[in-house]
Amino acid sequence: MSGKVWLVGAGPGDPELLTLKAVRALNQAQVVMIDDLVNPEVLEHCPNARVVPVGKRGGCRSTPQTFIQRLMLRYARQGKCVVRLKGGDPCIFGRGSEEADWLDTHGIEVEMVNGITAGLAGATNCGIPLTLRGIARGVTLVTAHTQDDSTLNWQALAQGGTTLVVYMGVAKLPEIRESLLAGGMRDDMPVAMIENASLPQQRECRSSLAAMHQAALDFQLRSPAILVIGEVAADHQVQAIAMHA
Ligand code: SAH
Repeated sequence: MSGKVWLVGAGPGDPELLTLKAVRALNQAQVVMIDDLVNPEVLEHCPNARVVPVGKRGGCRSTPQTFIQRLMLRYARQGKCVVRLKGGDPCIFGRGSEEADWLDTHGIEVEMVNGITAGLAGATNCGIPLTLRGIARGVTLVTAHTQDDSTLNWQALAQGGTTLVVYMGVAKLPEIRESLLAGGMRDDMPVAMIENASLPQQRECRSSLAAMHQAALDFQLRSPAILVIGEVAADHQVQAIAMHA
């Protein structure tokens, strides 16, 4: 008899931002395969499960994707209830759907569980309203890091009028800045850089688009961090909200 794989988002870091459904899946799990951006504190919900770390941070020691997939398959074929725990949401820059498709083609039952994605959590935690009425009519989640080095349409992003939330951008700040400036974005566009969103060690740095690289150097910004680029990242927007609170 085959087991089942739950592809679960563990949220941005704060264990209280886990969903009830994630907690239920963890309670039932016999094996938990955990990415390295997941806060290990969430493992209190699965004290009896076997925990298998399968992290693969950019530039660090990594577990190949095919190995992870085969391991999930092996445990599921042993009839085990497997939780694959990913940071944030499993489908936001998280390869959740690729893993689900692969398991599905191998006849394994899969269930996805949403998590709160880091970009949304970080912004809200810092009081940045990503879709502030009258200021931003939308929000665009982008990654600065691609496997095939394909480029984004930066001009469209620069001129689209939505707030940009950039994942995996810390090592690419000069390129992001140049691309958005070349695409026509104002050089004084506000930027917020949020490191370790939702964790006790969360830090945030405010800047302008033009100054963001230098500001990040001065601040010693480290991954994991997200960038919020847009009018809503201005400090005064936060103050306005505080005044209405
Ligand atoms: N699936 C995840 C994203 C994985 S990609 C999600 O939905 O959040 C990894 C990137 O996510 C990091 O490089 C960073 O840009 C962002 N990230 C993840 N956790 C973060 C955190 N606690 N604070 C800030 N950024 C974070």
